[in-house]
Amino acid sequence: MPTSRRSGEHASPASISIAAQGLRKSYGDRTVLDGIDLRIPAGSVFALLGPNGAGKTTAVKILSTLITADGGQAQVAGHDLATDPQAVRAAIGVTGQFSAVDGLITGEENMLLMADLHHLTRREGRRTTTELLERFDLSEAAKKPASTYSGGMRRRLDIAMTLVGNPRIIFLDEPTTGLDPRSRHNMWQIIRELVSDGVTVFLTTQYLQEADELAHHIAVLSDGVIAAQGTAEELKRLVPGGHVRLRFADPGAYRNAAATLRETTRNDEALSLHIPSDGTQRELRAILDWLDSTGIEADELTVHTPDLDDVFFALTTNTTPRQSNRADRPDHATEKAR
Ligand code: ADP
Repeated sequence: MPTSRRSGEHASPASISIAAQGLRKSYGDRTVLDGIDLRIPAGSVFALLGPNGAGKTTAVKILSTLITADGGQAQVAGHDLATDPQAVRAAIGVTGQFSAVDGLITGEENMLLMADLHHLTRREGRRTTTELLERFDLSEAAKKPASTYSGGMRRRLDIAMTLVGNPRIIFLDEPTTGLDPRSRHNMWQIIRELVSDGVTVFLTTQYLQEADELAHHIAVLSDGVIAAQGTAEELKRLVPGGHVRLRFADPGAYRNAAATLRETTRNDEALSLHIPSDGTQRELRAILDWLDSTGIEADELTVHTPDLDDVFFALTTNTTPRQSNRADRPDHATEKAR
């Protein structure tokens, strides 16, 4: 759960890595992107979140110059997509569903080929290859054909190949789709390290937890438009469902409190009371004052904000909104206590 301020927040306008205004794209009479605006600060992770078919890959393809938009404008690394696509290409790296890995040759050969494409000298190419294979834990497998690699290894090789050109902006299209939990966590660590080196990461994902873990800014794509954007915390505040949970160890103390605090929702099994709250400092203070005035002392007080699931289901139209009578769901507190 992100709690600390991350490097990409509050960046000055001068350090915007990717900006887009009114990007549009249709295939036939199907409008995939219907006017997308983005502003992504340098050195941050941006997550474009959306269900399958929402248009995430289309956005990545446009911003990385693989296809052209039907309308709108975008600047990547300070270069205009329409007038200077070559300069954009020189500044970015792209990995994802359209992987550049050639399965017939070894990991090392894939890397050396990439070094050639970037016009590195033989010596530089070898040095960079060795360094990157080591960094991505691929040294042992370096001389094996890439087709024998696991999904996680292939993704790591793909990113290593992208880094040969030392891009300052990297597009990762669903980097962890299909990976097992351990490989997913490895990938998250790699992404965090890239950002700590100052790289801007544009990530697409269907996984709410991934956006929550990694992204400084999240945009939810739905029906061709950005339904909401902001930090994970800002997005969570958009939907109802937050509460303060008071838990009691002693059933007698619980019953007394429940009788006194009539406005709360009870969970008799967990000996907990839920007070609706938006999680702001002002509301918390009011709740604490109220508890003090009634003389109630809970053994545990926790604040539960809605999670990204709530936001996602509330904002994306092709999914059924979840009923949000949170207090009736004893599992919720456990879910959020992770
Ligand atoms: P996502 O990455 O969010 O899953 P995509 O950007 O891949 O979504 O696709 C968005 C929509 O655009 C889908 O309905 C897809 O079928 C359609 N689409 C994507 N590429 C093409 C194409 N080349 N021709 C026609 N339709 C396409």
